[in-house]
Amino acid sequence: MPQLYTTLGPLTRDQLGMILPHEHVFVDLRTPDQPGYGQADMGQVVALMAPEIERIKALGVTALVECSTTGVGRRADLDLAVSRATGFPIVVPTGSYREPWVEDRIRAMSDQALEDWMVRELTQGFDEADFRAGWIKLSAGDDGLTALETRILRAAARAGIRTGAIIGSHTIKGRVVMDQLDIIEAEGYRADRFISIHTQEEKDFALNLAVAARGAWIEYDHIGRAEDAMIIDLIQRVLEAGFDRQLLLSHDTGWFDPAKPGGGTPTPYTHLSTVFLPKLAASGVDKATLRQLTHDNPFDAYAR
Ligand SMILES: [Zn+2]
Repeated sequence: MPQLYTTLGPLTRDQLGMILPHEHVFVDLRTPDQPGYGQADMGQVVALMAPEIERIKALGVTALVECSTTGVGRRADLDLAVSRATGFPIVVPTGSYREPWVEDRIRAMSDQALEDWMVRELTQGFDEADFRAGWIKLSAGDDGLTALETRILRAAARAGIRTGAIIGSHTIKGRVVMDQLDIIEAEGYRADRFISIHTQEEKDFALNLAVAARGAWIEYDHIGRAEDAMIIDLIQRVLEAGFDRQLLLSHDTGWFDPAKPGGGTPTPYTHLSTVFLPKLAASGVDKATLRQLTHDNPFDAYAR
């Protein structure tokens, strides 16, 4: 039976409801060589972020996916602390962000060591916290993959085959997503276990559909930050094209930022539930489809 691997252990579909597939609890966008990178007081992180989690819990959200990977301040221990304080499961990735955010220890790994490290985090747990990674989060350069990013992607595909974990990549251009799909398929990994994160950044809608036509998941993760009407139009066109089982919706908001005093001011994870879904329903999307998009799709994508 497929399970979602979270801070609070593996969960089955019937233990979950609505899931937010792309949010952040903690992010550090300074590169890992900067002083203070990834550092924060655990009590401060919990104090700032637990109320944001309580808000979505009250709206019926049952889990969220943390999209901060290594290189942009992944702190599985802080995610776990926020999770325990709220009794709310969070799905945390293995993997690495793109250059120049790749940590030196990861850059130094051989192809085999990269693969084994991801498998270890997915099957045994993190060094910094005792629970298993739920997925593999990567990124690619805006204009194409570097040699190192390609090496990490190939290792991720092999780790994904060994574990069943999905790979999601922050990739801005649809053309680069197509290159990534070529690379993972050459490793024997399936395109339907790949998420094109930030699909909306590719403004050529035909390329959004072309990625879905290859079997990959597409993700509109700017809800609450872009015009609702514009996103609703995109969603309707995806639904008309028949890709209702490959679409993910999220805010890409949050988060405690250690570069800011006190972690800054988080942006809530509530717009989808409170404003956007009622508008999407009013636009004619039926209840079963809304449930598919917000409950089943995130589970189907991330569970293994
Ligand atoms: Zn993000």
